Amino acid sequence: MKTISELVAAYKSGDTTPVEVVKEYFATIKKDDADIHAFLHLYEEEALEAAEAATEIYKKGGRTAPLLGIPLAFKNNILIKGRLATGGSKILEKYTAIYDATIIERLRDAGAVIVGSTNLDEFAMGGSTENSAFGPSKNPHDIDRVPGGSSGGSAAAVAAGFVPAALGTDTGGSVRQPASYCGLVGYKPTYGAVSRYGLMAMGSSLDQAGPLTHTVADAKLLHDTMSGLDPMDATTIADDTYPTVETKESYTFGVPRSFLKNGVDEDVLKTFEDHIESLKAAGHKVVDIELPLFEAGLAAYYIVMPAEVSSNFGRYDGIRYGLSVDGDDLLDVYKKSRAEGFGNEVKRRILLGTHVLSSGYYDAYYGKAEIVRRKMRQELNDTFKKVDLILTPTAPTPAFKLGEQEDPLSMYAQDIFTVPVNLTGVPAISLPMGTVDRDGKSLPVGVQYIAPHAGDERLFDAGVRIYDKARSNHSHS
Ligand code: GLN
Repeated sequence: MKTISELVAAYKSGDTTPVEVVKEYFATIKKDDADIHAFLHLYEEEALEAAEAATEIYKKGGRTAPLLGIPLAFKNNILIKGRLATGGSKILEKYTAIYDATIIERLRDAGAVIVGSTNLDEFAMGGSTENSAFGPSKNPHDIDRVPGGSSGGSAAAVAAGFVPAALGTDTGGSVRQPASYCGLVGYKPTYGAVSRYGLMAMGSSLDQAGPLTHTVADAKLLHDTMSGLDPMDATTIADDTYPTVETKESYTFGVPRSFLKNGVDEDVLKTFEDHIESLKAAGHKVVDIELPLFEAGLAAYYIVMPAEVSSNFGRYDGIRYGLSVDGDDLLDVYKKSRAEGFGNEVKRRILLGTHVLSSGYYDAYYGKAEIVRRKMRQELNDTFKKVDLILTPTAPTPAFKLGEQEDPLSMYAQDIFTVPVNLTGVPAISLPMGTVDRDGKSLPVGVQYIAPHAGDERLFDAGVRIYDKARSNHSHS
């Protein structure tokens, strides 16, 4: 499957054109997406128009925008002006976005062609896309299994060869975990690196948009195009104030050994140990570290996140956006619209969040979770004095079967390695580290590299040298 860089090179050399490529992708989508269900909406006509314009520009030669003619898909909680923005929810089933998200604007300006919007767990709450109001997506490596989530549609679209790359959002792992399940690179930037303007807010202190790609170089290209100060999001960091975290010839990786004892699948662990060996063979150092507070990450996340959800979701009231159900009075309209429009997982989180914020419980839950979060940051700062990067599996298991995780808690447990990253705001990347066998199928699993705050460039550097290089040796042998 082609990468963004390969497509750009082929456009420039005249080997192919954006029109040919976009037509081919749509042919594949029409053939296979009935089984995969990666997309909620497709924009074929406009994609072809954009591809034609791009093709003309390449014909003329000369300088071109970095993503000119590159097809991309977007998770449907990212606003595209004039397009349905459902968030995977019945409450927004007919809601049309009235402006472009900043990241859409920037990628479009760089020449990208928008192919369609992808499926997700309702409002990005979940880890399998099974919480989508429009039915789950399937994993292209085994269609009895989930692609992960919540950016599962985006991951499935890339893994199925429907687009060379896609965008997702990551509040607690929603880019990295589906990347792990689908054999892709998934990247969660430093909090504030990328504008959240035009993303449907889930947990505002945790949310970041990130790419799902075949290579780290492609992830970097998309990230560099999207990132930087945005006056519409006060938490974004200006380029000239972005701290530099240096890159190195060889890195010291820290492995939180006791943290790995938390229900990690044996085959995943074995693949992880193999990855450690390959790092050592390449001249990097791998040492054991302790991160005791990271073990409290899951508990803290499932307090902080629902708290933010419960306050953010006041806006879906049956008046301001989307579905509105008639009632006896205003309160009745609120109640009926929310009862009918939201699915069970969203309701569960709103209730949980309202509870942990309510007077009498605030100090015991929300206040404590914020203290844990602060201490986790300290623990991390101390750890990064000793190591350059932290290494964990991205998820404790490979992709599970549709319907397999019946109770919410076992689904939440999948997030154990990813949520500490969002709570502390640091960047992390998931890279394919190998496959494990299940029912005669080989399923991809990912490794997660975590960098210090603003260490995005270090992650790209390590990722390109360790993963992209091995991948290109492999595909050329
Ligand atoms: N699986 C996690 C959750 O359900 C992460 C979601 C996300 O990152 N959007 O909250």
